[in-house]
Amino acid sequence: MSEMSELIFLKPVLKEMIWGGDRLKEFGYDIPSDHTGECWGISAHPNGDCVVEGGTFDGWTLSALWEKHRELFGGVDQDRFPLLVKIIDAKKDLSIQVHPDDAYAREHEHGSLGKTECWYVLDCDPQGEIVIGHHAKDKDELREMIEQKRWNDLIRTIPVKKGDFFQINPGCVHAIKAGTLILETQQNSDITYRVYDYDRLSDGKPRQLHIRQSIDVIQAPYEASAVKPEVTKEGKITVTSLVRCPYYEVKKMDVDGIGEIQFQKPFVNVSVIEGSGTINGREIRKGNHFIIPAEYGTIRLEGTLSMIVSSL
Ligand code: ZN
Repeated sequence: MSEMSELIFLKPVLKEMIWGGDRLKEFGYDIPSDHTGECWGISAHPNGDCVVEGGTFDGWTLSALWEKHRELFGGVDQDRFPLLVKIIDAKKDLSIQVHPDDAYAREHEHGSLGKTECWYVLDCDPQGEIVIGHHAKDKDELREMIEQKRWNDLIRTIPVKKGDFFQINPGCVHAIKAGTLILETQQNSDITYRVYDYDRLSDGKPRQLHIRQSIDVIQAPYEASAVKPEVTKEGKITVTSLVRCPYYEVKKMDVDGIGEIQFQKPFVNVSVIEGSGTINGREIRKGNHFIIPAEYGTIRLEGTLSMIVSSL
């Protein structure tokens, strides 16, 4: 087999968080504690650079592979691996936050990228909720509500259920709430401005807020970003197109039986979120993350499984 035709399996990076839980073990991960909040499944970010497991590039970091073997990624001309895929287990509420766009991050965050992200809800409590958007009618009212700490008037909370999908653009206030398990696909950035943290203490102190930056970047009024999933069938594979934006395209693929598919993409990120089966004869199961490199050719999938797939 030539090196161009290997799938690139990655070892996830697990992160403890004050709000994390123990549900990431449902994906077969060896979690460090019962407050494990995030699994970085496909990441070349310096705060969690995944290592290749097996094959020609066993032991390489994804960032090194991007640097030295760009041909695997279709020669994409970007200075860093552009996407990051995480699974998030929120046992408690996450802080209410917002991310900057590329222009703001470049100017204020040492040339970092901004952050556009999207969420596929893997599971949640029966009365699950999340925060997306706010109720301020303009920037002045936004500033006033934040300065007067009128959080209940400001924050827009909506019900959520398993299988929901949300696109979160820069400038959109958001928070994952307790009891939610989410797969997040995002730009490769770690810049977060915390607007409000429910006045919680961490080691006896409140966590840092970023009020000035938040007011700078929050879009007011809030405009809902319309997401309309489109479903197509490729034999035994059901493909649900979740979102296309300037940074990524995200799909859900449900396999039930045997099916073949081809991707006309420089590279494709795959996370198995449910079930098990094989890909070109190799076993895969819930919790696996891998990259289909450029010019890989036809993919033959067999089994009963669901995957979230992202590409540029
Ligand atoms: Zn976020």
